[in-house]
Amino acid sequence: MRCVAVCNFDPHKLMKKFNVPLVYRSPLISAIKNKRKQNDKYKKDFTPSLLDFGQVQIYLARHFGFCYGVENAIEISFKTIEENPGKKIYLLSEMIHNPLVNVDLKNRGVQFLMDTKGNMLVPFSDLSPDDIVIVPAFGTTLQIEKELKQIGIEIEKYNTTCPFVEKVWNRAEAIAKNKYSIVVHGKPRHEETRATFSHSASNTPTVVVTDMQETIELAKFINGEKPYKDFYKEFEGKFSEGFNVENDLQRIGVVNQTTMLASDTQAIADYLKNIMIKKYDLTEESIGERFADTRDTLCYATYENQSAVYGLLETEADLAIVVGGYNSSNTSHLVELCEEKFPTYFIRSEEDIVSSKEISHFNLHKNEAVTTISFLPEKKPVKILLTSGASCPDAVVEAVITKLVSFYKASKTLTEVMDEYR
Ligand code: SF4
Repeated sequence: MRCVAVCNFDPHKLMKKFNVPLVYRSPLISAIKNKRKQNDKYKKDFTPSLLDFGQVQIYLARHFGFCYGVENAIEISFKTIEENPGKKIYLLSEMIHNPLVNVDLKNRGVQFLMDTKGNMLVPFSDLSPDDIVIVPAFGTTLQIEKELKQIGIEIEKYNTTCPFVEKVWNRAEAIAKNKYSIVVHGKPRHEETRATFSHSASNTPTVVVTDMQETIELAKFINGEKPYKDFYKEFEGKFSEGFNVENDLQRIGVVNQTTMLASDTQAIADYLKNIMIKKYDLTEESIGERFADTRDTLCYATYENQSAVYGLLETEADLAIVVGGYNSSNTSHLVELCEEKFPTYFIRSEEDIVSSKEISHFNLHKNEAVTTISFLPEKKPVKILLTSGASCPDAVVEAVITKLVSFYKASKTLTEVMDEYR
C-alpha cells in the first residue's frame, strides 16, 4: 500500500461530536464505522468491510464520508439558521461540495453569494450589516474578508473554515517568515486554493501548480532551462503580485489544497526538493537552506479516505462506485485511484443508478455526465467496491447500497447485515 506523510493533528483526540441533522446519518453505516473503530482504535487496518448479500457483495471502504471540517461546517450552518429566524443568511459559496446538503440549505432560505468558481450570484452591495454571511469550510480570501468587514458583517461569528485549512495557512506563514516562497499544489479556481493563495501571497511570493507536469515546467525556470520572461505568460493568473521569477524561486516550500491526491503532493514536493539539491549542490542535511519541509500539511481525512481506497483496491472486484458531488475535489481523487484498476462509476446519489442496466455517472476526463448501459455484470456474486467523498452524507451511501441490493435476490436484509456489525 502506498503511504504518505500526514498532518499530525489528530481530530479524534478532540472527540467532538457534531450535531449533524439525522437525515444525513445512516444507522447501517454508523454501526459498521463504530464496530471498525472499536476493533481498530489506531486505524492501522485499511481493509474494507464486506456486506455480503449473497448474489451481490459490497465492499465498503474502511474510511469515507463526512470529515471533521464538513461536520463542523454543517453544525454551524444549521445552528445559525435555527437561531436566526427572519434574518437574511448567506453562504459565501457552496458550504461543501455536496448537492444534497446545499439544496437543503437553500430550501431553508440560505442564499449563495458566489458560485464555486468565484462568480458573483448576489452582489455584495445587496448586503447590510445585519445580514449573516457564513464562510464555508474551504475558507475565503483576505480580499473578500475585507470587503465583508467594510460592509459591517461579523464574519468571525459564522466562520466555518476548517482547522486543517487554517493549519496550511499557518504553516505557509511560518515558512514565509523564514523567507521562503510558497508553491501551492492545488486547483487554481477551487475555493480553498484561492483562499490559501491569498493568505500565502499576503506574506510571501506564491505560485500555484496544478499537477506534476506544471511542476516540471516550473522547475525549468528554477534550473534556468527556460527564459524567465516566459514564466509570466505560462503561469498567468497563478502567481502573486510582484512575483520575481529570477529571485523568488531560490528558497521554496510546498503546501497543498488539503484534498489533493496526497501521493501527488508528496511527489511534487520530492521533485522540487531534488531540483533544489541539484541546482544548489545540497545534501539531505543542507537542503533546509533552500527547501522548507512541509510534509505535514496534508489533511487527515484526505489521507484516511485515500488510504482506504488503496485498501479497497486490493480486493478482487467487478466494479467500483464512488459517491459524491461532481465538483468535489476529494471525491474526484478517489475516483482517479479506483479507475486505475476497475470500471468506476462516479455518482451523486442512488438516483443516478437508473436501473439494474443503466447508470448515469460523471466522466472526469470528458468533464461531463455520461450514461453506461449494462454496468452490472451478469455473473454472480457481483462484487462491488463502494466509497464516498468527505462531503457525502452516509445516508446517501446507504441509499446506494439499498438500490444495488434491490436488483438481486438478497440472502439477507439490510437489518441482518447491520446486526452483524452491532
Ligand atoms: S477534507 Fe480535510 S481540510 Fe477539507 S474540510 Fe475535511 S477535514 Fe477539513
